Amino acid sequence: MSNLPSEPEFEQAYKGLENSSLFEKNPEYKTALKVVSIPERVIQFRVVWEDDNGVLQVNNGYRVQYNSALGPYKGGLRFHPTVNLSILKFLGFEQIFKNALTGLNMGGGKGGADFEPKGKSDNEIRRFCDSFMRELCKHIGAETDVPAGDIGVGGREVGYLFGTYKRQRNKWEGMVTGKGGNWGGSLIRPEATGYGLVYYVEQMLKYAGKGNFSGKRVAISGSGNVAQYAALKCIELGATVVSLSDSKGSLIAEGDAGFKPEDVEAIADIKLARQPLTAYEHKGAFKYIEGARPWVHVGKVDVALPSATQNEVSEDEAKTLVSNGCLFIAEGSNMGCTQEAIDVFEAERKEKGGEAIWYAPGKASNCGGVAVSGLEMAQNSQRISWTREEVDERLKLIMKEAFENGLNTAKEYVEAKEGELPSLVAGSNIAGFVKVVQAMHDQGDWWESM
Ligand code: NDP
Repeated sequence: MSNLPSEPEFEQAYKGLENSSLFEKNPEYKTALKVVSIPERVIQFRVVWEDDNGVLQVNNGYRVQYNSALGPYKGGLRFHPTVNLSILKFLGFEQIFKNALTGLNMGGGKGGADFEPKGKSDNEIRRFCDSFMRELCKHIGAETDVPAGDIGVGGREVGYLFGTYKRQRNKWEGMVTGKGGNWGGSLIRPEATGYGLVYYVEQMLKYAGKGNFSGKRVAISGSGNVAQYAALKCIELGATVVSLSDSKGSLIAEGDAGFKPEDVEAIADIKLARQPLTAYEHKGAFKYIEGARPWVHVGKVDVALPSATQNEVSEDEAKTLVSNGCLFIAEGSNMGCTQEAIDVFEAERKEKGGEAIWYAPGKASNCGGVAVSGLEMAQNSQRISWTREEVDERLKLIMKEAFENGLNTAKEYVEAKEGELPSLVAGSNIAGFVKVVQAMHDQGDWWESM
């Protein structure tokens, strides 16, 4: 029995791993799970800043330095009023294994603050970032811990955070990724999570014998960084994107046309100005449904890409997607599906063989963002910049390998009947976990008891 406070999001992520068939075959890994589930270090700090009216404001700042077996801690910073330790622990825990799946040398971490960026002026954002980094800079660095963006932290915030670190530590170093292209950022980093997600699904389509994105109908949730670039890549590859959403509601395409690149670009501008989707003047091309997520409103789709936030597909929504014939669901968001939704998808996959829905967990399908962050670290340490094409090729290869790693591990560890598609959730969980805990074992972090 734990005496820790209840941490529902973290417990959900932990149970997702604990129920793995790996522990039946390799019981010694149960000890490793006990060790790996406790962060190496949690830093919690006060962030005091002044708003435009000269009034003092205060927030909670955090950094969870979860695991450094494979490299410096690596994972994003989230600025959102809902941020708490349970959410950051679940994100950090998932990040450890996601980073392992990229094949690059990165440990896992996550951080952020319960700060609401919406409605804040640029000056307020700058003052908040400055105060946040004045404390965080004591604990991070290019060889120690390299944060990146996440919800509420984009290129502008990364710039302010980098500037304060440099001034405080008197060091220009790649201690954060997602930097501006003209001062150390990697090309394709802003696009990487969304593009990588689509490259991952291309592998699923190919393996399942369902062709490519051309002619497919795709439902996407969210309208931030991940959703925008996933949508643009789907459109480029000939698919029809039928939905985008935000925390207030969903835009659903009317008729067969779907979103055009110019729609997505206009929505990106609206989101940069922190406005809701209702600010988009779409002239009747879309239906806006207030307070709704897209899944039960999109009708028949081939592919669903949850790309907003955690637990954004419920059991009932999962059942509707299945009954509407959706065949592929891959998470752009972290833990986008509830456990009950995953159970629906996995039960269908087992029951109906190759003709049922196939689910990919975020730790595999959205690892493209952190992978290009890893490539940004590599470029920074060599003081070079690769071309767009070079980074894109590497990203494609990493997504292919992340897919194959999960697939082949599932074939090795999980019993399946003839014609059944391998469980990407089981395979990816096991592949990431085994890589990390083997390194921890080599480094003396855990051992088999006599
Ligand atoms: P952004 O802040 O750019 O966009 C987030 C989007 O999700 C917005 O449309 C936002 O709506 C919506 N959203 C946020 N919270 C909620 C909520 N509680 N309910 C419904 N909608 C919500 O974030 P990103 O696109 O960067 O991140 C999206 C997801 O992808 C997150 O789960 C993140 O952890 C994950 N991810 C991101 C990576 C990256 O490289 N950026 C890498 C890997 C995973 P609104 O505008 O109204 O706030």
